[in-house]
Amino acid sequence: MSLIEQYPISVYNSLTKQKEVFKPLVEDRVGMYVCGPTVYSDVHLGNVRTFLSFDIVFRYLKFLGYKVRYVRNITDVGHLVGDADEGEDKIAKKARLEEIEPMEVVQKYTNGFHDVMQLFNIQAPSIEPTATGHLIEQIEFIKKIIENGFAYEKDGSVYFNVRKYNEAHQYGELSGRNVDDMLSNTRTLAGQDQKADPLDFALWKKAEAGHLMHWPSPWSEGFPGWHLECSAMSTKYLGQSFDIHGGGMDLKFPHHEAEIAQNKGCHHAGGANYWIHANMLTVNGRKMAKSEGNGFTPEELVTGNHKLLERGYSPMTVRFFMLQSHYASTLDFSNEALQAAEKGFRRLMASVQLIDKLPAAGTGKVSQEKSEELKGFIDQAMQDLSDDFNTAKAIASLFEISSKVNTYYQNPSELAEIDAEAFDFATTKFKAIINDVLGLVSETENAAQNNVLEGAMEVLINLRKEAKFSKDYALSDKIRDDLKTVGIQLKDEKGGETSFTID
Ligand code: AMP
Ligand code: ZN
Repeated sequence: MSLIEQYPISVYNSLTKQKEVFKPLVEDRVGMYVCGPTVYSDVHLGNVRTFLSFDIVFRYLKFLGYKVRYVRNITDVGHLVGDADEGEDKIAKKARLEEIEPMEVVQKYTNGFHDVMQLFNIQAPSIEPTATGHLIEQIEFIKKIIENGFAYEKDGSVYFNVRKYNEAHQYGELSGRNVDDMLSNTRTLAGQDQKADPLDFALWKKAEAGHLMHWPSPWSEGFPGWHLECSAMSTKYLGQSFDIHGGGMDLKFPHHEAEIAQNKGCHHAGGANYWIHANMLTVNGRKMAKSEGNGFTPEELVTGNHKLLERGYSPMTVRFFMLQSHYASTLDFSNEALQAAEKGFRRLMASVQLIDKLPAAGTGKVSQEKSEELKGFIDQAMQDLSDDFNTAKAIASLFEISSKVNTYYQNPSELAEIDAEAFDFATTKFKAIINDVLGLVSETENAAQNNVLEGAMEVLINLRKEAKFSKDYALSDKIRDDLKTVGIQLKDEKGGETSFTID
């Protein structure tokens, strides 16, 4: 039986608002589209969380054996400051302020985004299309929507006719909003009187004099609306119907709602069958955002150079911290939580390294029960991951293996009872889930040196334990104090374990 059959995925579908068994359109293949960043500023840790959530989906699907085409776009035009149809283009504004070309802004922050993705070991998508690279596709898309009667032109701009669309389809099916309620809640904004209805949104905007980014079109020299690129590019690379569409929870409305409407308005199919929304990273309960002043960059995170940070944290610590919660729950940032994650991450990785130092398994009287128990933790971790990509639960299952490995190391007679094949299976899969699915890797540049250090520390920690056991407190204190003078701090944990940190 293949892993795909053995571990069927169930996923919470934001469109149907229920957990469903995941069934791709084409057997063993998955098409996935995720909204990428608007490249006008440095990405903050909140953005990282969303892209990490979909990195796990991408990695796990591949781990099971799916062939995945993962499309994640770069928004390099059309996203206006007001998020709706008002204000300056975010990129053009930055270009004006920095006195550079808009495309220099785009290049600078696209490079920065890629660096950050690499820092957190987030894999590159299969295709990373840009909005400006797909203007022809967007213009063709608009033409079809107009032809179908769901959009109108006014003074060189083109708007999507929400009311008309709602007569044939259901605007609000994703966000659960009711068009009539929305109509009574929206005011006509000053300067937006071109729209027949305040709910209508721009597909094409005529560029005002002085607007930096514009292209020719049948309607005017102008630029596309923000929502359009995702409809045009997902259709181009994944087809009118595809499997998964993802993005942050804050994109559900209006961005994703508009995307579905554009798709159906153009070619009747709504795009993705499964919509997945990743939840927000918050700080003291508030969404992390540039505008809130609580959005630190990865650089600030590593150096600790931000008022909210007590000290710096490594990228893998942060990755582990984020994976300890389910993608659909909000996650609140705190120094305490990160410090706890740092310990957890080190503990997990230390047991990965310990595996290679263990003696052979199965050399004694093998216990089938204990061997099955060990394999069962892997089975559990896989079931957790297939249960709506629950990394939090999977990590808990992996810690069961981690503690078994520690036990085997302390007490090799326990390992003698484990069937060699079961041991190989469990430890190989244990490492693979950690490295390939969770994307957690050892952070020391020189892994071999790190092994030696970990080994030497274990010798010293055990020596100190023995000294304490035989009540030779002078020796146990000397070990602790001498280590301190070379910058290594020992800490006795509650469970009797001793950990160390390097200053
Ligand atoms: P943007 O560049 O603003 O379009 O954002 C890129 C992605 O980051 C989108 O999918 C947003 O939903 C997501 N995002 C923005 N802020 C946060 C946050 N505080 N936590 C999680 N994801 C976020
Ligand atoms: Zn999008």
